[in-house]
Amino acid sequence: SQIMSRGLPKQKPIEGVKQVIVVASGKGGVGKSTTAVNLALALAANDSSKAVGLLDVDVYGPSIPKMMNLKGNPELSQSNLMRPLLNYGIACMSMGFLVEETAPLVWRGLMVMSAIEKLLRQVDWGQLDYLVVDMPPGTGDVQLSVSQNIPISGAVIVSTPQDIALMDAHKGAEMFRKVHVPVLGLVQNMSVFQCPKCKHKTHIFGADGARRLARTLDLDILGDIPLHLNIREASDTGQPIVFSQPESDESWDLFCVFREHVWRMH
Ligand code: ADP
Repeated sequence: SQIMSRGLPKQKPIEGVKQVIVVASGKGGVGKSTTAVNLALALAANDSSKAVGLLDVDVYGPSIPKMMNLKGNPELSQSNLMRPLLNYGIACMSMGFLVEETAPLVWRGLMVMSAIEKLLRQVDWGQLDYLVVDMPPGTGDVQLSVSQNIPISGAVIVSTPQDIALMDAHKGAEMFRKVHVPVLGLVQNMSVFQCPKCKHKTHIFGADGARRLARTLDLDILGDIPLHLNIREASDTGQPIVFSQPESDESWDLFCVFREHVWRMH
């Protein structure tokens, strides 16, 4: 059964898009974009008949172009909509395609909102089964406006086990509840580092913090991802781990994040 969004009446679906999954975090740098990219790739790998798109609305720090090894200006369709750029079978759109990489994004609120409006409404996605949206970190105007403007099937919240990140993740979950977006669950990222030489495990950001938060909020833990060199390198070289090392353990950890809720959405 489909997860129905009990959205507000003014929400208008994105043309051609069946399900929207947003990936959010309270704090920056916790692995939200990494999760979004690998979620999109896992959804596509899980069922090759599904068309998947990735929308980066992290307007202040777009990282999808680098992670998906894409750059360039989107072409316009006949009806003046932007055509997404394509890599690894995923249609992508990002603020990073629209402004110079080095341009300072010191924008006033209004300009950010018009950029968001463009990214939400002026993209020619064709037909998509899933659109994964990489949100900006935190619970500001952009997050609220995205949540209120389009029907969202579910939100995935990413956090490290560190207290400060968890506090912000908690706020994120509360925000989605207020705007009636179902929270699919939490992803605990960077939970453990295993020394490749001596195999000793260190919980650099603390252990099980996200699990405790999940219990408090009565949410599922969708996955628990270790801090691993391969994941960082895969992101930085624009060859996401789920695509480049599908057989690796880390890839499997990321994959597991999505099995459950992909299953629930059918
Ligand atoms: P956010 O979107 O929350 O700001 P990113 O996904 O951009 O975070 O991740 C921040 C940095 O940490 C990136 O360089 C990314 O490659 C790296 N990273 C994310 N998750 C992991 C992980 N589990 N192991 C190693 N590096 C990671």
